[in-house]
Amino acid sequence: FYFPEPQNEPVYAYAPGSQERQLLKQQLVHHKAEELDIPMYINGQEVRTGQRIAIHPPHELRHTLGYYHKGDASHVQAAIDAALKAKAAWASMPWEHRASIFLKAADLITDKYRYAMNATTMLGQSKNVFQAEIDAVCELADFLRFNVHYLSEIYAQQPISPHGVYNRMEYRPLEGFVVAITPFNFSSIAGNLPTVAAMCGNVVVWKPAENQIYAAQQFMRILIEAGLPAGVINLVFAPGATVGEICFNHPDFAGVHFTGSTTVFQDMWNKIGQHIARYKSYPRIVGETGGKDFVIAHASADIDAVVANLVRGAFEYQGQKCSAASRAYLPSNLADKIVDKLIHEVKTIRMGTVEDFRNFMNAVIDEKAFDKITGYIEQARKSPQAQILVGGNASKEEGYFIEPTVIEAKDPHFVTMEEEIFGPVLSVYVYDEKHYEETLDLVDRTSPYALTGSVFATDRKAILLAEQKLVNSAGNFYINDKPTGAVVGQQPFGGARASGTNDKAGSILNLYRWLSVRTIKETF
Ligand code: GLU
Repeated sequence: FYFPEPQNEPVYAYAPGSQERQLLKQQLVHHKAEELDIPMYINGQEVRTGQRIAIHPPHELRHTLGYYHKGDASHVQAAIDAALKAKAAWASMPWEHRASIFLKAADLITDKYRYAMNATTMLGQSKNVFQAEIDAVCELADFLRFNVHYLSEIYAQQPISPHGVYNRMEYRPLEGFVVAITPFNFSSIAGNLPTVAAMCGNVVVWKPAENQIYAAQQFMRILIEAGLPAGVINLVFAPGATVGEICFNHPDFAGVHFTGSTTVFQDMWNKIGQHIARYKSYPRIVGETGGKDFVIAHASADIDAVVANLVRGAFEYQGQKCSAASRAYLPSNLADKIVDKLIHEVKTIRMGTVEDFRNFMNAVIDEKAFDKITGYIEQARKSPQAQILVGGNASKEEGYFIEPTVIEAKDPHFVTMEEEIFGPVLSVYVYDEKHYEETLDLVDRTSPYALTGSVFATDRKAILLAEQKLVNSAGNFYINDKPTGAVVGQQPFGGARASGTNDKAGSILNLYRWLSVRTIKETF
């Protein structure tokens, strides 16, 4: 059954005085008062271990949102057993019935639980209202609805059958179980990685990032309300190393859907490689693993466009997007003007709790992130190769707050131009406007990543040159726009090199990875 292409979910504005703002504010109050006791979900059962770990908003550390129950190896094993037990019934369910569960979940997100999804993501992950809305509501609902559409397109793709023969392709799920290991920074990605595999008929062990459990359990409850059968997706809160140890050692391991760091992903490949002879099939290893995303302005660039998009690209969600603008190359003829305006704009950024909707920035996710990010800022402060143009201060007293920081690097290979920081730190380098072409080569060579990047120019030749020279430097390449904010169905998302396997979330390409096709030829 063909499911037509849906529309992207409209983004609510939450304008002052609007009813939606009032309803969301009520949810924030409700969630703060609630103090949840969050179980794992294994085989459709709520599992509480008694090992309770507190969850605090990163911007208000003295408050406790609730507790989650931490699991161990036995829970990972139980999740695998439950998944394998659920497999046959799930894989043989007519696909439109599987689809209907995910379509209903999308409607529950956008209609019944819109404010709850936003509230849990805002409080648990320290996202402002707009960042939560585009993520936990719109992108997550889009993933579910568009993936149903893409899967219906795939199922319809059939080979030709000459007279006397009937050829068909049977799009089966993978044999075994899939592991989804999901990040803290997007509730949409956390929801997409397990569901896209499940939709194809797979059964899943889902291990969310510790810092995203608060919203993850909300989504899990929505899936259950939508009718997801027991055991199809099992949510476990065991340490990542334990999940890897058990899952990658299992003969029924069929694939991993991952978003997280490059080192963790590389480690997975190694572990999976070591056990390769144990598995029934070669596992699918799909991952998105970070970036050092560039913005290059040409001498013909529109200054206002560069500044506005640098501010949004670098500092929305405190720079904690794999796609965040983190290194900018400014032409000598425009650099002073761009930098002046940029400093001016950055100084107007408000930072604080998520409950005050005027705050453009909130806290970074945890102490480890805080220490890592401030470590980079301190390196810049001490180095003669760098100068902090604005920001640079930080405090972890109330929450993990780091000012939006712009560093000018005198050396294009200064550490903050090369390494992923994953925080509100933008490094800029001024290049000689006459050396645009050489600078494009520099952009390509400077980082091992290739996730996103932007070029700003009004000169068509300059745009074309960047597109050609940076052909392998970014999986998502933006012209006169920020390098963040890919929309499902509009900008399929992913990068190559150290950024991942480029299996394009939010497009039909990703779905193929969770299917194993049987070709059937019948002769009359
Ligand atoms: N898809 C997001 C964007 O385009 C980034 C996803 C990520 O951070 O992993 O901004």
